[in-house]
Amino acid sequence: MRTLFSDEELIHCGLARPAPIRHPIAYEPHERPNLSDYDRFLVFFSGGKDSVACFLWLLDQGIPVDKIELHHHLVDGREGSKLMDWPITTDYCVKFAQAFGVRLSFSWKEGGFEREMLRENAPTAPVHFYTQSGEKRQIGGDGKLNTRKKFPQVSADLSVRWCSSYLKISVGESYIVNDPVFRQGKTLVLTGERAEESAARAKYKVFEPHRADNRNGARVKRWVDVYRAVHGWPEQQVWEIFRKFGVNPHPAYHLGLGRTSCMACIFGSPKQWAMLKHYMPTHFKSISDYETLFNTTIKRGASVVQTAAKGVVPELDRFWLEVAMGETFTPQILLNPATWSYPLGAFGESSGPT
Ligand code: SF4
Repeated sequence: MRTLFSDEELIHCGLARPAPIRHPIAYEPHERPNLSDYDRFLVFFSGGKDSVACFLWLLDQGIPVDKIELHHHLVDGREGSKLMDWPITTDYCVKFAQAFGVRLSFSWKEGGFEREMLRENAPTAPVHFYTQSGEKRQIGGDGKLNTRKKFPQVSADLSVRWCSSYLKISVGESYIVNDPVFRQGKTLVLTGERAEESAARAKYKVFEPHRADNRNGARVKRWVDVYRAVHGWPEQQVWEIFRKFGVNPHPAYHLGLGRTSCMACIFGSPKQWAMLKHYMPTHFKSISDYETLFNTTIKRGASVVQTAAKGVVPELDRFWLEVAMGETFTPQILLNPATWSYPLGAFGESSGPT
């Protein structure tokens, strides 16, 4: 059956079941970085299992934590919008970083997803972050005037599926390009895409210059590579490194989700929208009201109300629901590896709670 969206797009948001890899992927030696070449390691850290695995892998390789930085993009910004993301994600990242004593930094587009979506004859909002020396920086915000007034569309076309590029990819690039620390020495960025997730991701280069790299620049030089450190890992291996370090995963996994993406991800399955409608009615209503206001639905041909009506409401663990919907992560990040067990969402459907 032909589907409208590639596996890669669905997987990005955690909504497709990955096809199993039958043969391990063999890399050429040049596809692996020599870690001793780098002065710093920047892990793009969503709080999801694959970015956690990248960080744990660095520790496993003997990289000291003071050479590592976790960097998290705030999808909803920092100005009060709560439309899309799990409320707990930011504090999960904070508690995770504290547990390991590793630096954590943030970047965000002002007003986050909601402001970008409501843009009317206005430029895209500026990006904010703090430099490693503690200086607050604001980049951009004076670009071309434009109007969105619609959700990112569930589409293969990145110009209409704007959220990941405007709220994550370009924000991360802006951070690296505009903090002068990245002009010194060599930086290795680590991201958590895995080949097992989709045929498209299986084709990603494992090791290459990052889009912010400018090693041959005439005026400003910046050496930045990107390494997809867990690209060849099956899911089992990801969970095994969680077990080895005794890491408690993001609450979304305890609720039965196979991946941690935005709570109200545009790629949500009927079950996920049914979950949202039942357990997160305020979020759901805001999204549904925006669909009505814009007269454009997220998925072509079906409103979120219609999509939710096709899904079965999953039974969610009350404790983890409360944690996921709170803003303070109270459970321990580090558990006893000897008694560590898989979360409900491990090896299950990636399309929502089971
Ligand atoms: S809604 Fe969030 S998780 Fe889904 S595609 Fe957009 S940025 Fe990614």
